[in-house]
Amino acid sequence: MNKTTDKTGRNDSMLRLAIMGLGSYGTRVAEAMRDCKKAKLTGVISGTPSKIKDWKGKYGIPEKNCYNYENFDAIKDNPDIDAVYVITPNALHHDEVIRVAKAGKHVICEKPMAINATEAQEMIDACKKANVKLLVGYRMHFEPHTLKIVEMRNSGDFGKILFFQGLVGFTIDDPNQWRLNKALSGGGSMMDIGIYAVNGSRYMIGEEPVWVTAEEIKNDPVKFKEGIDETMLFQFGFPSGAVASCLSTYSMNNLDRFFLNGTNGFAELMPATGYGPIRGRTNQGELTAPDVTHQTVQMDEMADIILRNKKPLIPADGEEALKDLKIIGAIYEAAKTGKKVSLT
Ligand code: NDP
Repeated sequence: MNKTTDKTGRNDSMLRLAIMGLGSYGTRVAEAMRDCKKAKLTGVISGTPSKIKDWKGKYGIPEKNCYNYENFDAIKDNPDIDAVYVITPNALHHDEVIRVAKAGKHVICEKPMAINATEAQEMIDACKKANVKLLVGYRMHFEPHTLKIVEMRNSGDFGKILFFQGLVGFTIDDPNQWRLNKALSGGGSMMDIGIYAVNGSRYMIGEEPVWVTAEEIKNDPVKFKEGIDETMLFQFGFPSGAVASCLSTYSMNNLDRFFLNGTNGFAELMPATGYGPIRGRTNQGELTAPDVTHQTVQMDEMADIILRNKKPLIPADGEEALKDLKIIGAIYEAAKTGKKVSLT
């Protein structure tokens, strides 16, 4: 790779990244980044001193690049860090992303970017004002089987698109975790994994939905309290007349499938959104795209987007996340009112 240095001697071919929130997914990203060619873990932000100690040793992070939630605004004076990846519980993303933007660093934020569209818009505005990029951890946007199907659809291989089905679910265990606490999660399965079907409907069909209908099903009101959806069935209509039918749940395993149907063919991904390997086929046969570690590819691609203005085939920015959150808001409204909600 062509390496250049700026006035400060900084090598701008590598994205130097701090991870905020050293939990289960933050750890997965850090491990995957060991194989990155264009991004490097150079800092951490954590509320747990023992994790900081552990990560310093494991990833060779110097003390001067370690922060906690009280002092991380000082990151603005740290030339070793270009961007912060926010990987904390959903409801914390809004304030944390805005603080990172104010510190003048680019931000990558985990999905869901926020817990509603109003917060998402504020995050976008703050990043624009600070002149920093805002990306969202939509790892499937960089996954080769997924991209192959989107390319085939763009080439007209499936004809006119008529239907998409997105099924996402797993059985959630520990009833005390933040995912089942509305104050931290912002919602239930919809916020956590239903977002993959919402987002997938949009990039698989290649249009924005114009209406939503939805039904919420709750079989265990003790585990899934008010505001935490256990299972959501939702449907979308698109301007071309295509429709989507999706299911998101915290009460079923073996549920990870996308199906796209058009006048001339079909595409299926199963598993569609897990950590991989992703498997897929179309009416033309099995997909033979390479199996990759999603987070390694995502972080290398995001380095190109942030540092070199690369335009990905499927955008993964704040505006993209705002669209998903508007749709999720409409899904909750449709489930509550029993009415079809217009998105136009
Ligand atoms: P974890 O609970 O495993 O980790 C979250 C981390 O956030 C904690 O370990 C902690 O790190 C920090 N944190 C700060 N404040 C709190 C708080 N009040 N309660 C709990 N944790 C806190 O969650 P995940 O890593 O599974 O999820 C984090 C985010 O990543 C979520 O937004 C989730 O939706 C997203 N995610 C995305 C995935 C993907 O495939 N794109 C997959 C899994 C999750 P510390 O101790 O260092 O402060």
